[in-house]
Amino acid sequence: MPHDDSGLPTYDAEAKMQFLFTLRSRGVTDTRVLGAMEAVDRGLFVQGAFAARAYEDTPLPIACGQTISQPSIVGLMTQALEVGPRHTVLEVGTGSGYQAAVLSHLARRVYTVDRYRRLTQAAEKLFQALSLPNVITLSGDGSHGLPEQAPFDRILLTAAAEDPPGPLLAQLREGGIMVLPVGQSDTVQTLIKVRRTAEGLDYEELRSVRFVPLMEGMGKE
Ligand code: SAH
Repeated sequence: MPHDDSGLPTYDAEAKMQFLFTLRSRGVTDTRVLGAMEAVDRGLFVQGAFAARAYEDTPLPIACGQTISQPSIVGLMTQALEVGPRHTVLEVGTGSGYQAAVLSHLARRVYTVDRYRRLTQAAEKLFQALSLPNVITLSGDGSHGLPEQAPFDRILLTAAAEDPPGPLLAQLREGGIMVLPVGQSDTVQTLIKVRRTAEGLDYEELRSVRFVPLMEGMGKE
């Protein structure tokens, strides 16, 4: 992979074109979402040997036994979230930080939380290096949400829950949207979109997905 003067791998034009083509062919058609994904170099969020595969449409291993999501799933989830420039977004499951970086180009402010301090520290360094001051990174069990910062216009879970966590539903503003994978199984879950209206909650099933599980408490690293 080519490198620029800073030693960071550069996003080569051909790989980028192929990356965007694949996203479109898999249903990511919103031009704001495509623009945000074009702006964020996924290669910076994947370490070591896997970095060479950063522009493939595949999930890849990151530290702490977790994964960076498949780019087309990141695109489809972001699209389903209908993020606008005035929105405050909560992401539960920072992982590599890639999804939060994409959201930072679309929203006013992004809070991202992970139960592994090692992951949030690495992601925070990247957000600083990329000058993304509207991302606020926190370590903790995100299934309780962030009561002090609530309510949120948009909430995205990038780990699979058996049911939508009650505290997160409670922290969703009226008119707000939450997107999350739900299911009993470790191998396949359903991506759902929840909308809070004046009358209550509307649920829409989007597609099958496969995510790491939402876990309780802090991680060890
Ligand atoms: N969005 C990430 C991928 C997330 S992988 C990216 O763009 O790379 C799922 C992440 O959810 C993992 O990092 C895992 O540690 C985190 N996670 C699981 N349960 C959690 C919880 N209760 N609170 C916060 N983070 C959690």
